[in-house]
Amino acid sequence: MKIINKQILKLCPNFSPLENWGDLSKINPALIVLLQTLRTGLGKSIYINNAFETGGHSDKSQHYIGNAADFTVDRGRNFVSIYQNIMLILESVEMDHQVGFGAYPYWKTSGFHIDVRSERARWAMDKQGDYVGIDIAMHDFKYA
Ligand SMILES: [Zn+2]
Repeated sequence: MKIINKQILKLCPNFSPLENWGDLSKINPALIVLLQTLRTGLGKSIYINNAFETGGHSDKSQHYIGNAADFTVDRGRNFVSIYQNIMLILESVEMDHQVGFGAYPYWKTSGFHIDVRSERARWAMDKQGDYVGIDIAMHDFKYA
């Protein structure tokens, strides 16, 4: 898969093998294409915090199978509007029922998790570190 992903990255003008993929050879190519789709749609830089990892996430994390990336957009600015735009992009490419998506407004730099798990999942982490519904969390964050 390593060679395939290097080739796929040549089709992705905003990402390179030097991002924090963890192990590029373990990354699901669909994740790379999806991140480029978000980058293109948003018109804003995406910084990948981490992708494939062998620990440090929840049990059975999509990170452990190369399906997931944690990322920040535009250095965490305009977090709620970027979240809304990402949701619109996912709908426009008919991927909204195929991905897991988490919002982490209280990371040091507010950011997101996305994964290509082939089914829909949504969550957010609140200020206390508890998992909560993403819509209410984003609403509360916006008006906090
Ligand atoms: Zn994650």
